[in-house]
Amino acid sequence: MSTNKETPSEEDSVESCIFCLIARNEDKEAEVVAKNEELVCFRDIDPAAPHHYLVVPKQHIHSCFSLHRGHIDLVKRMAKMGKDVLREQGITDMKDTRLGFHQPPYISVNHLHLHVLAPISQISKYMAYKFIPETVSFVTEESLLQRLKNNAPPVKHYFRHCMGLF
Ligand SMILES: [Zn+2]
Ligand SMILES: [Zn+2]
Repeated sequence: MSTNKETPSEEDSVESCIFCLIARNEDKEAEVVAKNEELVCFRDIDPAAPHHYLVVPKQHIHSCFSLHRGHIDLVKRMAKMGKDVLREQGITDMKDTRLGFHQPPYISVNHLHLHVLAPISQISKYMAYKFIPETVSFVTEESLLQRLKNNAPPVKHYFRHCMGLF
């Protein structure tokens, strides 16, 4: 699931990127639930909660570590699409939802994707560890926005949380 991304590899190429395929509507398996000029939202193939969607930009961006202040509005639009989809799917308690990004090297696909999960009270106990806010592996949308606003570096060298988890 995680490999060293310090050096560019074949996996980083747009041609072989599964989320680029989905964004171009070339993956027939993908269950797209929303899209616009810029973004696509589809069901996670390995859902950790009754509602689990991914929002990706059509443009190939590697991960949240590739983002800077100029991406603040993009992150906001991704979160808005995720929340709109949840509401369309009948989710009313927005407090029982979680939106966030995996941080390298804990990413399974090297294409920026926002996880949208609900209800969090029903998250799979076997997968919940992947989505714990503000750990070395996962950052919520709100924290990421705060980090981008402050030009703060990503939480890279903070391994206390993950020792027991990975
Ligand atoms: Zn891609
Ligand atoms: Zn992920």
